[in-house]
Amino acid sequence: MKYKLIRKNVKELLSDIYIINGIDVMGFEVTPTNIITYHHLIKVEDLKMLGFPTDKTMENGIVLTRNAHSYLHMIEETDPEIFYHINQILFLITKEKRLSTIKERNLIQIFLEAFEYRVQDYLKVPSKYLRRTKMS
Ligand SMILES: [Zn+2]
Repeated sequence: MKYKLIRKNVKELLSDIYIINGIDVMGFEVTPTNIITYHHLIKVEDLKMLGFPTDKTMENGIVLTRNAHSYLHMIEETDPEIFYHINQILFLITKEKRLSTIKERNLIQIFLEAFEYRVQDYLKVPSKYLRRTKMS
C-alpha cells in the first residue's frame, strides 16, 4: 500500500479550523476570486518592534478571505475601536484553536453593522463588503 504524504502549509491548516462550509469568520464566502489570506493578529510592525519573528504561524494568525481581510483593515484605519473589538474576538477563537461559535460569528456581524452605521453619513462601504452570509 502506498502512502502519500500530504504537507499542508499554515494557511491550509488554519483554513481547516476557521473556514466553515466555505465561509470565513466574518461571513464572507470563499470563491475563486475571493481567496483565502492570512491575517496576523499581532501586526508585523509590532512584532518587528518587539524583536519577534514575523513569520506566518499558527499562533499568531487566522485566515480570512481577501474581501474580509481588506474590509477589516479598512475598519482598522477608519474606526480603530471597532477593529479592536473584532480583533479581540479573533484572538479568543485562535487562542483555543477551535471552530468559532455561532455566537462569536454573530457578534462579529454586530460589530460590522455597528461600523456601517457609524460611517453611513460620510463613507460609502463598497458593496462587496456587504455581501455576507449569516450563520444560524
Ligand atoms: Zn491583516
